[in-house]
Amino acid sequence: MRYLILSDIHSNLEALERSLELARGKYETVVCLGDIVGYGPDPRAAIDVVKQTAHALIRGNHDKACCGITDAEDFNPVARAAVLWTRKAITSEHCFFLRQLAAGPLSVADFEVVHGSEQDEDEYILGSAEAIPALKSQTAPLVFFGHTHCQGGFSLSDSGAFQPFQGYAGQDGAVSLEPGRRYLINPGSVGQPRDHDWRAAFAIYDDQARHVEFYRTAYDLPTTQKKMQQAALPEPLIHRLEIGR
Ligand code: ZN
Repeated sequence: MRYLILSDIHSNLEALERSLELARGKYETVVCLGDIVGYGPDPRAAIDVVKQTAHALIRGNHDKACCGITDAEDFNPVARAAVLWTRKAITSEHCFFLRQLAAGPLSVADFEVVHGSEQDEDEYILGSAEAIPALKSQTAPLVFFGHTHCQGGFSLSDSGAFQPFQGYAGQDGAVSLEPGRRYLINPGSVGQPRDHDWRAAFAIYDDQARHVEFYRTAYDLPTTQKKMQQAALPEPLIHRLEIGR
């Protein structure tokens, strides 16, 4: 089975549709790691597309805030402004959909998915300080995570050798999973990448070939930005999309 792994879509319909288009024919099942909404201008459409396509999905911190499970008090002011905008923009059905999303970790076939980490759905796994303890304690050999919006990941061998790897941008456009190693892999963010590459990011995992491929794709960013301006979403959120930060 080939799994299309999507994360951090953040109400960016142009990025989501372009990613699905590029991935067409390369997967059988869609898995979503949370943060369907927040930041972007199309929360209703993003939820509708995910609802129709994803077979396994978990919630992210923005999903929780946008449906009122959390109060967004710990969000920065622009992120909070987008949460408040999203709450008004979605219908009660969309809100209900967000409210019933499961918290990670969730087991899917031979791997697990989390938004932040296995221990804490809101934790950021940014580097070795967070990745090594997470790899040591993870119960599945392969865990997909999101939340940081940075494509790539980390692995740890049974003998303790740690290895970070980049996504599409590095020499590691793909990773072949080796026996005797554990993996923590981030497909990157579809709708708001923060790894200095503005293009939408996703990954495809083939459980027969034991192989993860990283993808990036340009999308119609001017349309997304224009919609954000029309919605009066905060300027820093509009600008960051073009610099991938
Ligand atoms: Zn996110």
